[in-house]
Amino acid sequence: MNVDTVTYYVQSLENFGSRFEYNENRKDIANWLKDQFTAMGYEQVELDSFLVITRYNNNVPVMQYNVVATLTGSTRPDEIYIIGGHYDSYNQTGDPHVFAPGADDNASGTASALETARAIKSAGYQPSATIKFVCFAAEELMLSGNSGSEYMAEKYREQNINLKLMINNDMIANNPRPLNESMVSVNYYTGSETLKDIAMSLMDQYSVVTPMEGGRDVWTDSRSFHEEGFPAIYYDEYDFSPNYHTSNDVIANCDMEYCTEVIKGSAAMLIYSVESPSPVHNLNVFDFGDGATLVFTWSPNTDSDFKEYKLYSGRSADSLDYIDSITDTTFNLTGLSDGVKYFFGVSASDFDGNETLLTKVSAVPNKLPKAPGGVQAIPA
Ligand SMILES: [Zn+2]
Repeated sequence: MNVDTVTYYVQSLENFGSRFEYNENRKDIANWLKDQFTAMGYEQVELDSFLVITRYNNNVPVMQYNVVATLTGSTRPDEIYIIGGHYDSYNQTGDPHVFAPGADDNASGTASALETARAIKSAGYQPSATIKFVCFAAEELMLSGNSGSEYMAEKYREQNINLKLMINNDMIANNPRPLNESMVSVNYYTGSETLKDIAMSLMDQYSVVTPMEGGRDVWTDSRSFHEEGFPAIYYDEYDFSPNYHTSNDVIANCDMEYCTEVIKGSAAMLIYSVESPSPVHNLNVFDFGDGATLVFTWSPNTDSDFKEYKLYSGRSADSLDYIDSITDTTFNLTGLSDGVKYFFGVSASDFDGNETLLTKVSAVPNKLPKAPGGVQAIPA
């Protein structure tokens, strides 16, 4: 990762003046993004177009363009990983048609797709699963529907695409602190909490930025993928930009070194995820009601080299004992004591012996109370 190329990408995007989704220049911007990927040596780069209809444009349909560069996996090409961010911008203090520099929001996240693609290509890294570098169109008016991420997520769900993870960067360049005291929020989605633990540990390991636990189910492009049932993770600056959606959202007010560090951490998450088994998602627990049994369920792993789940339990979250290995997605933990808290963890492992972090949950088995006897109806 190189701060000079990150700076170049952000500055070039700012130089369009405005990247408001209803500007005439939107296809020029998309083509510029496409040219960047092509120049890196990517052969499969497409403008994936879709129509947006919102009240901001008097419900007149307008063509929008997601820019998608694909690096096909060598051994698991049908497993897809996305990294990206939206490239459109907005200005609520002036006319967004005229000026909306959007350096932090979100040329910075767009640069994460570009710089990660560039670094991977120049390192000659060949991923085992397929990576898609995506610059999303039309995020800013998402609450009115029809964003580029909603379009893509819906399409992936309809086509039954095996999307393993969507990594989103949206606003990753505002930092008022010295670099070694800077922080980034790692935001996550319900059911995929383990991704947050992995993402935080990798950010810690591969960048100088300190990861902080962020919000859950936050609105932005990653939320569109979560809504369609895909695992997602989302990074944004810990110190929210005071220049958000204003004419002051320019590169001069951004910290490009910080931005580059966040890109490093999110790229580490990408590579780790591509090369490791996927963690267990949607782990739920039900009390059987006999005071001695808890029932656990989770979503099936769809890795092509998936072997089995390893199960663990114990009385403390930090010291769980191995119980069993199974391929089923439900397990009854029996012989428990009524009213006592138990912890349960499940990991996925592959045929090479790689094992994921544990996804954990805790619960207390209770005997269901008997129906109350001797009840009398008293007229009011
Ligand atoms: Zn944004």
